[in-house]
Amino acid sequence: MFTPPTTCPNPACKHHRAPAPDWYAKKGYYRTKFDRQPVPRYRCKACGRYFGSHTGTATYRQHKPKANALIAKLLCSGVTMRRTAEIVGVSRRTLAKKFQWLAVRARAAHAEYLKRAAYPTSYVQFDEMETYERSKLLPLSIALAVRPKTGYVMGVKVAEMNCHGRPARASVQRYGRRQDTRGAAALAVFREVAMIAKPGLTVATDKKAAYKNLIKDALPDAAHAVHPSRKGPASSRDPLFHLNHICAKLRSDLSRLSRRTWSATKKAACLQDHLDLYVAFNNNYAIA
Ligand SMILES: [Zn+2]
Repeated sequence: MFTPPTTCPNPACKHHRAPAPDWYAKKGYYRTKFDRQPVPRYRCKACGRYFGSHTGTATYRQHKPKANALIAKLLCSGVTMRRTAEIVGVSRRTLAKKFQWLAVRARAAHAEYLKRAAYPTSYVQFDEMETYERSKLLPLSIALAVRPKTGYVMGVKVAEMNCHGRPARASVQRYGRRQDTRGAAALAVFREVAMIAKPGLTVATDKKAAYKNLIKDALPDAAHAVHPSRKGPASSRDPLFHLNHICAKLRSDLSRLSRRTWSATKKAACLQDHLDLYVAFNNNYAIA
């Protein structure tokens, strides 16, 4: 079960890049804190560095690696951060660290998926949904592209925006004007779609005028299908049904996106982390 690393973990060592045959010696074992299993230890014959079978693996130095998978599932199943920590039996500090670790792995898995482009797509749906950080006076927008054929999320990016309507004045008075980064976020999502687009791609959106030029920028060969937005509950007659379905799932599966919640986002960056984690969960990437 345990295999030593194939190269020396010391970057300054000659066996780091090109290990000679028989470059390490076995040196006893240690027991992990989490399951008391004996893990073999080794010593590099050139630089003398000691290392174990876990050295350099993704969960190296983690005390509870077995909790990662459950944490990822709970955080994508409507459970709040605090309650996840309580269920799994870790501190909130540990949970925050594991959440970050999972988000980084989720992003890497999605980048790999886009780079491989094994199943290019000819049709995606795109839209934005709204939420906020800390206060309803600090709104955020989430740009989102979904591939209806698989239900996979192709790209998701958080953007800052200004309040519109009645609370707009109060928002400016209290927090000043915000940067509107919605265009950049939408563009970033379209660029991700471009990585796995088949020739003859169609992007379906609602009637928001800004999308036309953004799509032209990122996807010059794509066709743009414009649908009037529909009010009321999601139905399969809705031309953007698959996208709205994912939005509805996000509202129920990410506790911070529920309506009238007290576990709302505190920092936009953490919302992005949570969305990236959800993409990995939704698209079935193995990250934990
Ligand atoms: Zn070495």
